[in-house]
Amino acid sequence: MSKRDYYDILGIDRNASNDEVKKAYRRLAKQYHPDFNKDDAEAENKFKEIKEAYDVLSDPQKRDYYDRFGHSANNQSGSAGFEGFGGAGFGQTGFGGIDEIFEQFFGGMSGMGGRRRPQGPEQGDHLRYDLEITLEEAFHGGEKTITIPRTETCPDCNGKKTRSSEGTETCSSCGGSGQQQYTRTTPFGRFVNMQVCSSCRGEGVIINDPCSTCNAQGRIVQERKIEIKIPPGVEEGSRLRVSGGGEAGLRGGPSGDLYVVFRVRPHKLFNRKGSDLWIEETISISQAALGVEKDVPTIDGNVTLRIPEGTQHGTSFRLKGQGMPHLRGSGRGDLRVKVRVNVPRRLNQRQKELLEEFAYLSGEEVGVESKGFFDRMKDAFGS
Ligand SMILES: [Zn+2]
Ligand SMILES: [Zn+2]
Repeated sequence: MSKRDYYDILGIDRNASNDEVKKAYRRLAKQYHPDFNKDDAEAENKFKEIKEAYDVLSDPQKRDYYDRFGHSANNQSGSAGFEGFGGAGFGQTGFGGIDEIFEQFFGGMSGMGGRRRPQGPEQGDHLRYDLEITLEEAFHGGEKTITIPRTETCPDCNGKKTRSSEGTETCSSCGGSGQQQYTRTTPFGRFVNMQVCSSCRGEGVIINDPCSTCNAQGRIVQERKIEIKIPPGVEEGSRLRVSGGGEAGLRGGPSGDLYVVFRVRPHKLFNRKGSDLWIEETISISQAALGVEKDVPTIDGNVTLRIPEGTQHGTSFRLKGQGMPHLRGSGRGDLRVKVRVNVPRRLNQRQKELLEEFAYLSGEEVGVESKGFFDRMKDAFGS
């Protein structure tokens, strides 16, 4: 089903300010509010649409996601979001499914899990792993195995907390509800309180024959090796989601996800700006004046850069396609070479003569009179 663009729904510009979003919403909400449009299904749908658009566009983070990923950003589960955002496929890990989602921004992961029903299945916590890689690894991509400790469903009891079939029984104190009612009678009346059942701690079952592997927890911490595919061009802060790679769920709930956040180590030669790489190359004044062909390093080997005669200090050259791969899409950024012209600090006699001759031919005045101690004394006393 195709959805209308949120900006179109509110009738605003893509760079509308937050105030404009609010104004547009208020105006439309008044027009289509169900209270003013009784039994008008169309107006009701319209109102829902407006409300949804407003919810996204009024939240800077959601709006940012929406701007980048469109409606696919909106199929959020919990607040992690972006299920089904099909990036470039990077293959499988050992999880029977991986969702690759790249975001430059890491956020919105707190407060996962939502409302908890006692006893209900509960999703496991999400995990975050910061993976430091070199610029070369970010360039080539590839695979890396990481080891993370995480809670997993106990393999011996399968999360049931007991190994025998008769090992659990329904809690008699609460009848399996996990809650107990307490009635208090006070001068003001009778009060009924609901509390977590103290016999079963809200689990609804009593374990008579606890599993020794997990201490009747149903989960154990295990170190798990996970193979991570590094996509070429990955950037500092890029985030990869391994669906189901987080902590095991509770009471049959799904596992959380693992978020791998890439940290790209600074490089000693290259400075990265987006997909472009920058380096500085030092040349002499004669090379700057006469031109030179220089081998310059790229992330991928050396290339020859033609520096034309008369190149000024600070000039930068662009070597097309010699930068980092674009993370989304194909092709590569550029290598930018910034030229520094080095002025010689020491010249031998002959070099000096040649430069003086050069200056003479250019009609330039050169040289600083070097005065000795006695000359300066003479200056001072005006003899
Ligand atoms: Zn167990
Ligand atoms: Zn109980």
